[in-house]
Amino acid sequence: MLTDVEQRVKKLKSQHKSIKGLADIQLDLIKRMLKWSPDQSIVPSVEEELKADKLACGDYLIKGWEDRVDLSFARCLFYELLQWDGVGKAKRGLKKFGKTIADEEVDALLWSGLTNDEPLFASFTHRYELEPDMLALLVQYSLLPTLNQINKEWTRGFSIDDWNQGYCPVCGSHPIMAEYRDSEKFRFLRCGSCACDWVFSRVGCPQCHNRDYHTLDYLYREGESKYRVDVCEKCHSYVKGVNALSAQEYPHLLIEDVATIHLDLMAQEHGYSRY
Ligand SMILES: [Zn+2]
Ligand SMILES: [Zn+2]
Repeated sequence: MLTDVEQRVKKLKSQHKSIKGLADIQLDLIKRMLKWSPDQSIVPSVEEELKADKLACGDYLIKGWEDRVDLSFARCLFYELLQWDGVGKAKRGLKKFGKTIADEEVDALLWSGLTNDEPLFASFTHRYELEPDMLALLVQYSLLPTLNQINKEWTRGFSIDDWNQGYCPVCGSHPIMAEYRDSEKFRFLRCGSCACDWVFSRVGCPQCHNRDYHTLDYLYREGESKYRVDVCEKCHSYVKGVNALSAQEYPHLLIEDVATIHLDLMAQEHGYSRY
């Protein structure tokens, strides 16, 4: 997989010089993530019936089962990411943080990401004077390979087709983008935290569930038929979309996110916010 990703990045950099730096940073990150990707043995087994009951109530699968998640790989990856070049100016502060923090504290920090416990997360940014967005990103990326493995196991042979929510049925996160697949007949939302993919109405806003096509639109760049941005005029949110033959693995999704930064800028210039 890494060779494919490297080739994609190489091509991307030759086509779009302006994102060269970002693409390199993302590639570095992916290499570190692939080093700390657990196999299926860490995934807790859960009965199909329990999963189905949960989804039927509108609850995502991991909700209430967070204590079953093995954090050992995420912890190692977190330490690794503290060395990551992409943190820019925050590098020195994070290095220092890595030297002072104990394993139990890293686990508590990861737990705050897993359970969306904002006060617990804020206690770390205050105590160690860390930039919240940067720390949230490191936590999200540290958990990604673990949650991705859980997603793969929990959705293998288990249908999530009836899940009609705009957030991930496995971990509850918002989509990083959408993939138009099967000759653009279906729109699949892709989770940026576990890489789950779930089908969502082509005409519909994942944030406010607006289904009125008069107030749903899309933006695109001239000559770029592969990409589009679906926008909602009711809640002013957007989701990027890409034509894809099949579900992309998470390293490719992360590269796709960088490759479509111009679409984020275009949507934001038009007054829309990323859902
Ligand atoms: Zn997810
Ligand atoms: Zn909306």
